[in-house]
Amino acid sequence: MNSKEQKRIEAILNLLAQSYPFTGTALHYETPFQLLVATILSAQSTDRQVNRVTKKLFSKYPTPQKLAAADLAELEDLIKGCGLFRNKSRNLKKMSQQLLAQYGGQVPPVLEELVKLPGVGRKTANVVLNNAFGIPALAVDTYVSRVAQRLKLTGASHASTIEKELCQKIPQSLWGKAHHWLIAHGRNLCRARSPRCKECLLLKHCPTGKEIIKKGREKIDP
Ligand code: SF4
Repeated sequence: MNSKEQKRIEAILNLLAQSYPFTGTALHYETPFQLLVATILSAQSTDRQVNRVTKKLFSKYPTPQKLAAADLAELEDLIKGCGLFRNKSRNLKKMSQQLLAQYGGQVPPVLEELVKLPGVGRKTANVVLNNAFGIPALAVDTYVSRVAQRLKLTGASHASTIEKELCQKIPQSLWGKAHHWLIAHGRNLCRARSPRCKECLLLKHCPTGKEIIKKGREKIDP
């Protein structure tokens, strides 16, 4: 990376830091296990929906011991406010059973172990590592991918390659924050179909935004 590109990335990160000072997860949890459950539930759901569901779920099944023994139909009923609830119920129960059988009921703070658990992909594992254990990790979801691609922080399309490229360009101490910043920016301004480039503080540093403004396009083809 040349020094001009390094300065551009520093400027982007500084502006994001000023715009989005809160960098915690909005999911409610008290233990690494509960964050793991909430993050599994968050696929195709909003944080608000997940928090509504986990309030009841964690009062009845707060630990892997309780969730591993849960009645599946009852579990489905409790989490049906989140999408894909049948699949998620099965995964939550199996994941809890696997935690008990292989890890003494503790969430392992290791990426390679976490991704072996049912329903846990690389993104979920990185969210848990960073937020529950304070381990530097940069979770890549659709928001992070979209904003990073438009800012030309990555030329990749696959999440694991995007993660690798972002981790090479962003200082390790900012990986967790960068995840939250890029999500917030993707939700607020850099929206999928209608990015609000004219209002975007990153426009000066964004090749895609400049192109959109130049062409007078306010919508992006899906
Ligand atoms: S200028 Fe437009 S495309 Fe670039 S980050 Fe901002 S909203 Fe997204």
